[in-house]
Parts: sequence; C-alpha cells; structure tokens
Amino acid sequence: MQERLFTPGPTEVRAELLNELARPQLHHRTEEFVQLYDSIQAYLKQLLFTENPVLLFTSSSTGAMEAAVTNGVKKRCLNLVNGAFGERWHEIAVMNGVPCDKLEIEWDKAIKPELVDEALASGKYDALTLVFNDTSTGVLNPLAEISEVMKKYDEVLFFVDAVSAMGGVEIRVDEWGIDMCLAGLQKAFGLPAGLAVASVSERLLARAREVEPRSYYFNLPLMYKYHQQSQTPVTPAIPQMFALKKQLEDIVEGEGIEKRFKRHQEMAAVVQEWALKHFDIYPEEGYWSPTITCILNTRDISVGDLNRELVNKYACRIASGYGKLKEKCFRIAHMGDLNLIDIKGLLAAIEDILGL
Ligand SMILES: *Cc1c(COP(=O)(O)O)cnc(C)c1O
Repeated sequence: MQERLFTPGPTEVRAELLNELARPQLHHRTEEFVQLYDSIQAYLKQLLFTENPVLLFTSSSTGAMEAAVTNGVKKRCLNLVNGAFGERWHEIAVMNGVPCDKLEIEWDKAIKPELVDEALASGKYDALTLVFNDTSTGVLNPLAEISEVMKKYDEVLFFVDAVSAMGGVEIRVDEWGIDMCLAGLQKAFGLPAGLAVASVSERLLARAREVEPRSYYFNLPLMYKYHQQSQTPVTPAIPQMFALKKQLEDIVEGEGIEKRFKRHQEMAAVVQEWALKHFDIYPEEGYWSPTITCILNTRDISVGDLNRELVNKYACRIASGYGKLKEKCFRIAHMGDLNLIDIKGLLAAIEDILGL
C-alpha cells in the first residue's frame, strides 16, 4: 500500500499534482515557458503579499539559504539559532567563508524581539538570518514582532527561512520588510522536492551587486537579470514548475489563501489538544507551530517502534525527533494538503498502537 506521509518534508502530494510532472517537456527558451514563469510569479506575489520578484532555484531550500548569505553579507551576519535549521544556516555561512556569528538560545524557546534588538544594537552586523518555523522543534518564532525591531536597523538585511511555513502560514513580506523569504516546495506547498522559491528585495539586489561574487550558481544579480525576461539563467526543474503552477492556482483561486491558513490552524489545534492529553508539547507555550507539532515523549515509548507499526499496520509515517531530540520527541506534520480527517485518522491509529 502507498504510504501516507505525516512527515515534515517531503509531505503528501495529491495525484493531480503528480500528474503535472508527467507533462511533455517545454523548452525553456520559448514563449510558452515565459507564460508559465509569469503565471507562477503572479501567484507567488499574492501568496507572499509582496511586490518583490520571487526567484526560482533549482535546488532544495538549502540552496536558497546559501544564496542569502553568499550574496547579501558585506560586513558580518548574525545567525539566530533555536533549532537545527538555524544551526544549518550558520554552518552554511561558515563554510562559505562569510563573516558571521551565531546567537543560540535553548531549542524549546522562541526568539524574542528584545534579544534581536540587543544583538543588533552592537552595530556589528549588516544581515540577520532567522528561521520562522524551525521544523526540528516545532517553534514558530514571532516574525511580525521581530520585523518591527528590524525597522530600527536600516543597514541590516533580513533573511527569513520560511521553509515549513510558506503556503501554510501567513507571511507578509513587504509589510514585514523581509529582504529574502525562502522556501522549498516539499513542505507546506505539498509538492515534490526539487525547487525552492525566494522573494528578493531591491536592497538585497543592490547589496549583492556590491559584494564580490562568492557563487556562480546562486548569483542573485544574474538570476534577477534573467528574471526580468521571465527566465532562469540555467535550465530549471520544468516538471516542478508545471506542478507549482497548478498548486498555486488551486491555493489562490480554489481553496483560497486565508482558508488554507485557517485549515492549518485547525489541524494544529487538534494535534495540540491530543498531545497535551496524552503527552506534552516540546516548545514553550504561545509559540506552537501551525504546520508541525513536536511532541515530548513523556511516556518513554519507542518512537522507532511506533513509526514501524504505523507504517506496517496503517501505511502512515510520522517523524522522530530531529537530531539530538530523536527519541526524546516525535513530530507530526499537519501541513500541505492534509485535512482534519487525515489528522484524526492518524491520531486514532497512534492511539490504537499505543493502547491509549
Ligand atoms: C526542510 C527544511 C530545510 C532544508 O530543506 P531542504 O529542502 O532539504 O534543503 C531548511 N529549513 C527548514 C525550516 C526546513 O524545514
């Protein structure tokens, strides 16, 4: 039986979207491609509430994270860390020789605006990286409030990893002054992996032109030059673009953006209530993610055994804790095109297996 994924990437992909991947190839230097590119562009701007261009990266999300720090840092970058993906962004900067520091707090806590304010007041930094929804911990950092603080620091570019949020949670790129807001498609978009998207501000493009290029593949000024012709500098993942167009059409014109965000909140509420009844929730209260719940393993069950039984008996898969939280937690993703019936079915299956 086909396994159903309640994992935080890759996520379930609807059959209608899988079918899009099987379309005959378009050549990318054609008018048809330009139309495809333009329609994706228009929808992504609506989804992100932005006038900024949204560039397409034929890579996973990590490629777009790399593009942010290689293009957008002249002086020094501050990497905020309260989970594995915050840590990854710091490692990316280090490995690319980008001057950077990390500011790490406990992983079950959210990053508060006062902390950001204090760190930026040093005047040492011209860029900041923040993971909106750290998938490793299920913490949703208070992006809107942090963005208020960022407005005090003109020189500091604001880079946001919205990988497991975009398409499931409201993100107001222009209102919140986000210079680069990035995500891969295999999370809350409910599409296969292989393409990432990122809005880029004029300020970021101006900075990137001043910085000595550190990358060819992820060169933002070059990507933007092609973007102006509704093109990409290199051959993009065209099948993923067909699927992305269809999914955006369904999100914007079918379900509706607001309804999609509301559905994610409803699924989260069901999982949170269940988790509090039978276990506990890992992150501090008030910052629980609408797309993934990281459940504290207070009953000391074997997470590996639970997942094996879910797969064998119910053809469903959840995720263990991430990295150092492997057996300490387990994670249920409620993102993409899953709905309440799916989530309630999964929870009933877990109750059956654990005898709850
Ligand atoms: C999955 C994930 C990434 C990495 O994504 P890839 O597409 O595997 O490169 C980065 N950040 C967050 C928050 C994620 O959830």
